[in-house]
Amino acid sequence: MAEYPFPEPVVRITDVRELARDLVVIPNQGVQLVPNIGIIGGTHSVLVVETGMGPRNAETVLKFAADYAGDRKLYLTTTHFHPEHAFGAQAFTGFATFLINRAQAEDLATKGAGYLDMFAGLGEPVARQLEGVELAIPDVVYDNSYDLDLGGRMVQLRATGRAHSKGDQVITVPDAGVMFTGDLVEAGQFAIFPWFPPHDTDVSGIRWIAVMDRLAAADPQVVVPGHGDIGGPQLLADVRDYLQLLRDETWARRDSAMSEETITEEVTALIIERHPEWAGREWIERGIGCLCAEHVVDP
Ligand SMILES: [Zn+2]
Repeated sequence: MAEYPFPEPVVRITDVRELARDLVVIPNQGVQLVPNIGIIGGTHSVLVVETGMGPRNAETVLKFAADYAGDRKLYLTTTHFHPEHAFGAQAFTGFATFLINRAQAEDLATKGAGYLDMFAGLGEPVARQLEGVELAIPDVVYDNSYDLDLGGRMVQLRATGRAHSKGDQVITVPDAGVMFTGDLVEAGQFAIFPWFPPHDTDVSGIRWIAVMDRLAAADPQVVVPGHGDIGGPQLLADVRDYLQLLRDETWARRDSAMSEETITEEVTALIIERHPEWAGREWIERGIGCLCAEHVVDP
């Protein structure tokens, strides 16, 4: 099995950060395959955002959330179907109402098993966390938007349309100005393009740029990315600028009929020079591949 070069993908309940009254985040501490996890409270209900990868991580999250909630009702949602975000939902069965958008539910049903295999192959520490995963079936599925009343606090769940995945969803808490983006936004690393032709080609760089414009227009004060440090609206601008640069540099070379290999070489070098401090350089090439496939010839 592949060497897994990163720390154990385990959710640890440390440095829990209160972003607003009754709204906390369990930060991922920069650990790969651990997402930022949100707990949002109202007077009668509490919403958990993301499960962590696999049933044991999710049990850790559930225990924390149940203690936090006290006798309030629990809800669970996930930003998209990828394993570290959603493959722990089974631990919440019977304890929380699992609520997601339809496109994400379809991703989970049609692509969940394939992703389980693919991730288990990433290395022993990942396979260990995925042991015993059963893909959960959501209790409530909505089409495009859902306003969840937690009691004195409304939370907006919004399907964004295809971008990082087919079923991306953002969760916004308007009274606190907080937005959970999932992997539409990362801090301190290159955008993750799950571009794995022919198995998975759902990611769209072009649609992603349009989604980032819409998220920026919503003007949140606090942005909780899928992975990495919590930030402000600049995080949204950074991702949009990066995606636009990647598109422009890729397409300019595509227009002059350069080979994909040379495009990848040149654009990767240029992008790394622009963001030398960002992690996840392996995702640049996949982004270029995606954008080559989405190339539109100028009329
Ligand atoms: Zn993802």
